[in-house]
Amino acid sequence: MIQTFETMTELLDSVPKENMTFEMCNAFVKAWGKIHGYGGGKSEIQPFTKYPKIMVSVSGGADSDIMIDLIERIGHPLSEVHYVFFDTGIEFTATKRHLDYLENKYGIQIERYRAKIPVPLGCRKYGVPFLSKQVSQYISRLQKHGFKWEDKPFEVLYAEYPRCKAALRWWCNRWGDHSKMNISNNPWLKEFMVQNPPQFLISDGCCSGAKKKTSAMIEKIINPDLNCQGVRKAEGGARSTAYTSCFDEVFGGCDKFRPIFWFKKEDKAAYEAAFEIVHSDCYTVYGFQRTGCACCPFGRHWEDELCAAEKYEPNLYRAAVNIFGKSYEYTKKYREFQKKMKG
Ligand code: SF4
Repeated sequence: MIQTFETMTELLDSVPKENMTFEMCNAFVKAWGKIHGYGGGKSEIQPFTKYPKIMVSVSGGADSDIMIDLIERIGHPLSEVHYVFFDTGIEFTATKRHLDYLENKYGIQIERYRAKIPVPLGCRKYGVPFLSKQVSQYISRLQKHGFKWEDKPFEVLYAEYPRCKAALRWWCNRWGDHSKMNISNNPWLKEFMVQNPPQFLISDGCCSGAKKKTSAMIEKIINPDLNCQGVRKAEGGARSTAYTSCFDEVFGGCDKFRPIFWFKKEDKAAYEAAFEIVHSDCYTVYGFQRTGCACCPFGRHWEDELCAAEKYEPNLYRAAVNIFGKSYEYTKKYREFQKKMKG
């Protein structure tokens, strides 16, 4: 259990001066109103909150650890807080162990939900993730239309596949010069695919079934007024670039709040030092920089994750190879092709 405070000033005073950063202070101030509520204590203002029911998405990762600490440190005397974890069906045991640790440390309960469509099922149903969400989405679209992976001009292909305009623009580099939406953003991928058309289904549908739909399902069950997520702008990737600020007001729905959205690496390190945050074995023993679904081919370090899984969690390793194996092989082949082409 950690000490909580009646006023925001007392809370801010409790942070060791040498560790306090501008963004930390900012996060405490913003989160105080939303999570703790206003008034009460010595303020002589009747306590009130806009958010009587708050849902907090816990991933077991480092950012989520900081967010939980911040919420518990601020306290939530006026709200019911639901910590929720979605089990995507491909999680490190170290992550699950860490959830138990967090529950003990803060005296909280983390409600665990199974994904609406768990990863193994999602990959069988829609296809396997390959390289990135965007690439997988375009490939999936083309596969659905029986595309033959030919290098022809856009106009010719569009006449042949009139319902695949966006994906064909990707394939033909027609999203504008140097656009990240073009296939050329992945050097030699087009040449590789022309010579090695994929013989298995590729898709980003797994993410939608295991994460997006699950999150919507849980939000429906809990029906919160505010949904908190441990997303940071500086972490990069699709998850963080999807947002431009730490808060979204949703009229007639559940507002979204990302309490540590503006934390940079230094703020994160300062917070960890100030409050002795302990992360899961995925970081401290396996040596990862970040976590998510175990060994997902979308992750930049899936090979390192696979090595760690083989060493520390052999059952998970076997499951990952079974689910994502075709994508691993195809990615390796593509990398070899790239090397060859670069000379
Ligand atoms: S991150 Fe990877 S494994 Fe997890 S849901 Fe998305 S595609 Fe599936």
